[in-house]
Amino acid sequence: MIVAQSGISLAISGALWENFTSRFLGSVLSRQILSPLNLVDNKLDLLSAQEAMECCTKDDYRNFLAGIHLADGKAVMISGSAGLVAGKGAQALYDSARLREFARLATESQNRFALVDFRSDDAVAVKSVNLSGGSETGSLIYIRPIYSMSLFNALSRARLISEIVLMLSLVVLLAVALTYILRPLRSVRSRISKVQLNNLDTALIPLDGQPLELQPILMEFNRMVSRLEISAQNQKQFASTISHEFRTPLTVISGFIQSVLNRADNLDVNYRESLLIADKEAFRLNRMLSDLLDLSRADNNQLKVLREPFDCLLSCHEAIRLTQFAFPDNRIIFSDASHVDPLMAIGDSDCLVKCLENLIGNAVKYSEKSSTINLHINGDDRCIYFNVQDHGQGIPLDQCDLIFERFQRAEGVSLRRGDSSSGLGLSIVKMLMESMGGSVGVQSEVGVGSCFTLTLQRSDV
Ligand code: ADP
Repeated sequence: MIVAQSGISLAISGALWENFTSRFLGSVLSRQILSPLNLVDNKLDLLSAQEAMECCTKDDYRNFLAGIHLADGKAVMISGSAGLVAGKGAQALYDSARLREFARLATESQNRFALVDFRSDDAVAVKSVNLSGGSETGSLIYIRPIYSMSLFNALSRARLISEIVLMLSLVVLLAVALTYILRPLRSVRSRISKVQLNNLDTALIPLDGQPLELQPILMEFNRMVSRLEISAQNQKQFASTISHEFRTPLTVISGFIQSVLNRADNLDVNYRESLLIADKEAFRLNRMLSDLLDLSRADNNQLKVLREPFDCLLSCHEAIRLTQFAFPDNRIIFSDASHVDPLMAIGDSDCLVKCLENLIGNAVKYSEKSSTINLHINGDDRCIYFNVQDHGQGIPLDQCDLIFERFQRAEGVSLRRGDSSSGLGLSIVKMLMESMGGSVGVQSEVGVGSCFTLTLQRSDV
């Protein structure tokens, strides 16, 4: 649009200049030269045949030109192959080199009309007309300054300025128009960027009020969201069904292993060892299925997490009891800097126990055998903080956010022999903590250890 505008402006400027020079100045000069030309012609007509043959000497021409009245600044001269023959006012106004240049330019140009120095205030227009009598006689050259040149230049400048202003206004107008045109696109983009698997039900974009051009694309997008919703639903259903269906036989298997281990006193050592491994694996599988089930319930908004006051000290003791039982080789040290008993938090006691178990389990899993794990509580006016600290491998800084995503493991962190990992534990901790209105975070240094912090709101504030 701006390029088109510039092109049109240039074309108009060109046309204007063409009209001003060739047509206006050309025709004015043609009319003005007629009077000196007629005078010279009349004088020639008055000569006798003999005089005409001998014509015309410098003096004759000077004589002819004597009767011509010229306004200020204008000049006329006769120039032939013999050079500059005679002039009126010309020599007084311009030096002879310049006059010769005028004559040459005018006689050589196509319509015998030339503009000299046309962009300056000294602009001069020159018109040349052939005189009868052959090349010797030459041409009558009429010279006049163009007084209107400065006005014309001022007008051109004004026009240029107005064009620049117009162009700038067009740019502003274009920017405003683009902002207006792109606004619906931006809002659609922002909505699309927020679409995730767990909010597909609110991802559909209503077509009402959207520009017509955008509607077919939005219709396709909405269809795609619906297909995704069905597929996500099927996937969740599948995970939920599988976890549920696997748990019952697994509980039975676990039960039988336990009863054999408890009752068969004279069991061969190797068999006992095998049964213990099977029991451990069944426990791990059970845990994984329970995690999957929790996640799938959370995805379907079916997970029941309480948000009520509870004594979190009791939950800490319960978590320590369970983990001490599961990891008898490790020392788990509890310390409480809050010095308040009971210490009331808002949330769900079972969920907090599960989160702490998970963090302590990880602390054991990613540290040296028999290392010490610390569970430390402190609080401020608004929140209670549960810090689980280990002296293990630590987590690279760039992985510290990633590990809270499902099925993600930190690169460079290795498992101890015999342990296994699903990449689900921390995503469940995050989901449970957020469901209770709390949060989870980690500070870690490779080779030094990690400290995971759970935060819950106090209930007594
Ligand atoms: P899992 O331990 O089953 O792999 P998690 O979700 O609990 O799954 O943990 C995700 C990843 O975070 C782990 O695979 C491990 O790489 C890293 N991680 C978690 N806790 C610790 C820890 N205490 N020390 C070092 N790395 C850890």
